[in-house]
Amino acid sequence: MNPPFDRLLADVLACRHCEALLPEAPRPVLQCHPDARLLIAGQAPGRKAHAAGKPFADASGDRLRDWLGLDEETFYNPRRVATLPMGFCYPGSGRAGDLPPRPECAPRWRAALLDALPAVRMTLVIGQYALRWHLPGSGSVSEAVGNWRAYWPRPAPLPHPSPRNQLWLRRHPWFETDLLPALRAEVARLMEDPAA
Ligand code: SF4
Repeated sequence: MNPPFDRLLADVLACRHCEALLPEAPRPVLQCHPDARLLIAGQAPGRKAHAAGKPFADASGDRLRDWLGLDEETFYNPRRVATLPMGFCYPGSGRAGDLPPRPECAPRWRAALLDALPAVRMTLVIGQYALRWHLPGSGSVSEAVGNWRAYWPRPAPLPHPSPRNQLWLRRHPWFETDLLPALRAEVARLMEDPAA
């Protein structure tokens, strides 16, 4: 039990701050616990994750779990993996895919939640919105991920694992040959060694 943390999480889960701007009723999708040592800073839940009430409960999540070498049981254990998107509720979709995370969300909740995660040793920063918060001035996603060795492991910039990103992955073959093996090794170390 951690009453301040439990209270904060309950407040986030009850949030309806930008309800009028959301396509559906607010349903904050996140997971976290003060013991978590891996943090995934993502974008916003898509429609499937919103319906499931679980982060990355979709094809992007399948790919991300493969990148990390984590099974679903570990990935969805908040004591091991925290997942905080930049916007906690599904923002809706437009012609080019899902809309950006609601901009009201991060200023309202993010700093307090990050402060409540003292055990985090690695932060995976996925997509341009998370980059702007966690790694300001690092340029585009391609530039930040291309410079991954300069930031590793906290933060560790990643491209979005969406199937829509197939072209980016094909154009940057070093991602699979160099970055992914290092990522899997670091994540395995964090999951296995409590002192890491
Ligand atoms: S997106 Fe964030 S600020 Fe808006 S209702 Fe959901 S939790 Fe609250």
